[in-house]
Amino acid sequence: MDEEIRVPVSLPLDSEGFLRRECPTCEREFKWFSHNEGDPNAEPATQYFCPLCGVPSGLDSWWTPAQLEYGYGNAGGAIDEAVNDIMADMFKGVKGLTYKPNPSFSLEIETPDPLIEPDDMVMVEPPCHPNEPLKVPEDSTERIYCLICGSAFAA
Ligand SMILES: [Zn+2]
Ligand SMILES: [Zn+2]
Repeated sequence: MDEEIRVPVSLPLDSEGFLRRECPTCEREFKWFSHNEGDPNAEPATQYFCPLCGVPSGLDSWWTPAQLEYGYGNAGGAIDEAVNDIMADMFKGVKGLTYKPNPSFSLEIETPDPLIEPDDMVMVEPPCHPNEPLKVPEDSTERIYCLICGSAFAA
């Protein structure tokens, strides 16, 4: 099996469109605004600065443990399906043999409950990049770093 199985995982946003993130450096959580694809207000970036500790990291290093677990769990269902498809293909064209997919076949990877995103934290707007608002824990508003350029500001 050399095919790559890609699983689109949609993560929940809070009611204002913010996505929860965890900094790989300080391991604290915050939220950034999730722009729609093609949104002209989305700032192009090759890295993001942690609003809480100011240390930059690559675009793909901000998953919370719950999001990672959720992603793996969702991959389970897709792998089951892919295996079923491959089995069906293998038996196709074998004379006198019909392959009946077994609906209860499963690798027994549990599909997780949907993630729920609470409307917590306070929204702050970096003065240098007001189009990239953030949400930070209530006790962390005194010194915040801009996600895009890393400039410090106070809410
Ligand atoms: Zn941090
Ligand atoms: Zn900025």
